[in-house]
Amino acid sequence: MAKSSADKVMDKIVSLAKRRGFIFQSSEIYGGINSCYDYGPLGIELKKNVKELWWKSMVYERRDVEGVDASILMHPKVWEASGHVEGFTDPMIDCKKCKSRFREDKIDTSKPCPVCGNRDTFTEARQFNLMFKTFMGPVEDSANIVYLRPETAQGIFVNFHNVREASRQKLPFGIAQIGKAFRNEITPGNFTFRTREFEQMEMQYFVKPGEDEKWFDYWKQTRMEWYKRLGLNPEKLRFHEHGPDELAHYAKAAFDVEYEFPFGWNEIEGIHNRTDFDLSRHAQFSGKDMRYFDEAAREKYIPYVIETSIGCDRSVLTCLIDAYTEEEERVVLKFAPAIAPIKAAVFPLVKKDGMPEIAHKIVDDLSGDYRVFYDESGSVGRRYRRMDEAGTPFCITVDNETLENNTVTVRERDTMAQSRVAIAQLKNYLEEHLKS
Ligand code: ATP
Repeated sequence: MAKSSADKVMDKIVSLAKRRGFIFQSSEIYGGINSCYDYGPLGIELKKNVKELWWKSMVYERRDVEGVDASILMHPKVWEASGHVEGFTDPMIDCKKCKSRFREDKIDTSKPCPVCGNRDTFTEARQFNLMFKTFMGPVEDSANIVYLRPETAQGIFVNFHNVREASRQKLPFGIAQIGKAFRNEITPGNFTFRTREFEQMEMQYFVKPGEDEKWFDYWKQTRMEWYKRLGLNPEKLRFHEHGPDELAHYAKAAFDVEYEFPFGWNEIEGIHNRTDFDLSRHAQFSGKDMRYFDEAAREKYIPYVIETSIGCDRSVLTCLIDAYTEEEERVVLKFAPAIAPIKAAVFPLVKKDGMPEIAHKIVDDLSGDYRVFYDESGSVGRRYRRMDEAGTPFCITVDNETLENNTVTVRERDTMAQSRVAIAQLKNYLEEHLKS
């Protein structure tokens, strides 16, 4: 079958990601393992920057959100209370001819099988639980079953009182967490878009019942604003409101933030009004009082929760796709400076006349503040191209004029404009320009 243009774009991004050390197939030397990926030197920087930007806006820049880092393995009762044991399922169908497996809600079953092209070959749908099971301790017994968490949210709910008491927060306040989640997805795919192991960045905001709709609107707008800081093209972002048959069992209202990927519009973040479902269920299953005492109103109630839940790996992929630009003579990743893996590269024009020494000194001076890269191999033009592909916003070249007046050439990635900057002013220059 001929490849669609979406497939071709994705192929280019996957190949660039591998070649430049953003993302590798996991266990590649053994033939790889389906839907698992490793981040390379540039990928880990990009991912770290995305996480930092999220943490900064969700925790540091606010007074009403605290952080936690809960464990992946939790008491199995947590998943009974949350409804995951009973209901965290997807409808699975198989093609009887080619044995391919699909999520019934993600394909049109009136059309031929997308893999083998045969018609009317699908089995009836069966419900498949997406939680990974394992055993705690040496005995593989049903009494010892534990789950790899399928979402980070529950680690926040069970710590509601711990965090509230320790931080002396009053409603409304939130708890934020970044961490791994695992789902045994029926059809992982589209590179890191849907994988079985992934990271989430979640925040649960606890509010007084009756104020939930106001806060839901607030978080919807606040989260959309954040994508500007991430540097994504606003025209490729939109909200999708969940209809009554899409809503999760716990949700009163839900909006997805969607991005227009080469393979179509898809969710990157979910914003949910989870009502008092989770805390009520934990109260019921644990026997603990999960109510909040509202001093002003002199009453006790179970708070409502507004959740913002974004996939970290999925947003990193979105940044890669959004940044990917083909120009006449180059491929360039136009990352927002805040998330660019390398902020500046330093080149000596030639490997003599003391230029490498000056360039090394510049790298040393800047490295305390930024990830900086030194490169002396090949022509300056080729070095520029390599840095364009890595998404590095600035290239600094030490040349003959440097030897005369201690200035360097600074070349900007997107415009390719060059200017002369005094070495002593480089830190200020970068600080100012990396902000924008
Ligand atoms: P989908 O409909 O795509 O399966 P979901 O609605 O089940 O997603 P949520 O449970 O709301 O997803 O999870 C919140 C976020 O976590 C998603 O918006 C997505 O960014 C990320 N996420 C969920 N499942 C995966 C996965 N299998 N791989 C990568 N990221 C994921």
